[in-house]
Amino acid sequence: MPRTIMHTTASKPRLALSTLAPVTFQSEIRAMTVECDRMGGINLAQGVCDTPVPAVVEAAAAQAMREGQNIYTRCDGIARLREAIVQKQGRDYGLMYDAEREVMVASGATAGLHATAMALLNPGDEVLVFEPFYGYHVNTLKSLRVNPVLVALAEPGFRLDLDALRSAVTPQTRAVLVNTPANPSGKIFSLAELEEVAELCRQHDLFLITDEIYEYFVYDGAQHICPATLEGMRERTIVISGFSKTYSITGWRIGYATADARWMPAMAHFHDLTYVCAPAPLQVGVAAGLEQLPPSFYSQLSAEYQAKREKMVAALQNAGMEPSIPAGAYYIMARVDHLPGKTAAEKARHLLKATGVAAVAGSAFFRPGRGENLLRFCFAKLDEELDEACSRLRKL
Ligand code: PLP
Repeated sequence: MPRTIMHTTASKPRLALSTLAPVTFQSEIRAMTVECDRMGGINLAQGVCDTPVPAVVEAAAAQAMREGQNIYTRCDGIARLREAIVQKQGRDYGLMYDAEREVMVASGATAGLHATAMALLNPGDEVLVFEPFYGYHVNTLKSLRVNPVLVALAEPGFRLDLDALRSAVTPQTRAVLVNTPANPSGKIFSLAELEEVAELCRQHDLFLITDEIYEYFVYDGAQHICPATLEGMRERTIVISGFSKTYSITGWRIGYATADARWMPAMAHFHDLTYVCAPAPLQVGVAAGLEQLPPSFYSQLSAEYQAKREKMVAALQNAGMEPSIPAGAYYIMARVDHLPGKTAAEKARHLLKATGVAAVAGSAFFRPGRGENLLRFCFAKLDEELDEACSRLRKL
C-alpha cells in the first residue's frame, strides 16, 4: 500500500525564507563596490583602508602562526590581548576594567555589537540610533527582531537634537547607540552632548552601547571622549571598538567590547556560539601592536588622515559638490544636488560612469526618502590612489 502524505490545510510553506529575510536589504556599499570593480574604477565607497599594517603587528601575527598559535582561544580572547586592552582603556581614558571578567576580544566590532544585542536585548525592544546611521547597526538590531528607532541629527553640522531624542523614548526603549566619531557623518559627539545622552540613559535606566572604532581618527586637535567615563555610565555602557581601522586590518576581524562584569559572561556566550573565538594568531599580532606602538603612532595616524581629508574636501569642492567637513572618522558626506539623477543611487552611478570614482548613495544612511542629495566618500586610501581619485573628480 502506498503511504499517504498528510497535508495540513492551513500550513505555511516550510521551504521558505525566514520572515526576517525579506526585510534585511543588500548593502548599497557592497553593490557599489561590485559595480566599481566591474569597471576598474577607484573605490571610495567602502571603508577599506588599504594603508599598510604596522610592521610590529604583522610580524607578531606571522610569528604566532609559525610558532603554532593556531588553535581555538578562549571565546573572549587570549589573556595577553585582554590585558593589553585593559591597559589601553586605562591609558587613554582612565577607564579601569578587569581583564578576566570585563573584556571580550571579538571577531571585529561587528561581532561585538551582535553579541551585545543577543545578550542584552529582547525581540520588540527599541534602541535609539542616530541618523544618519551606519547600516550594520540598524540591520544587526533588525536581524534580532529589535527595533532601531531613528533619531535625526540636526542640520547643519549633525547636532544632537535633545527634544527629538527625548521624545523617541517609549516604554520599550532599552538602549541608546552612539557611534563617535561617526560613520558616515564624521560627527564627534561633544562632551555636552554626551552628558545629555548619559542623563537620558540614567533617567530611563537605559544601556548605552557605543561604537568607538574611529577613536583615533580625530582631526583639528579634537579629543575622543569615551562615554563610559561619564558619571554613573560605566555600569550601563557597553564600549565597542576594534583594530580594523587603527591598524588597517579590516580582514583580520579583531575587535573588542569592555563592559561591567554583570553583562560580559552572556556576551561571551553569544560570541562563542557564532564565532567560537577571534582568529588566534591575529590576536597575538594586535596585542603586540597595543604593547609596542608608541603614542606617536596614534597622533601620526590622525595627522595623516587629516591631510587626506583636506585633499578630498578640496577635490569635492572643485567638482562643485558641497562637502561637510568631518571632525573625525574617514568619510565625507557631500551634497551633490547638481549631479544628474533623481535619487542618490542614480547620482552615484552617474559619478562612477563619468569619473570612474565610486561613492555611496547618501540614502543608505537614512530612512527612506532622506539622503537623496548626498554621496559619501571614503578617504582611507593610499595617497597615490587618493590623488588619482581627486584628479578624476576635479575633471567632472
Ligand atoms: N563600526 C563602524 C561605525 C564602522 O564604520 C565599521 C566599518 O566600516 C565597523 C564598525 C566595522 O568594524 P569591524 O571591522 O571591527 O567589525
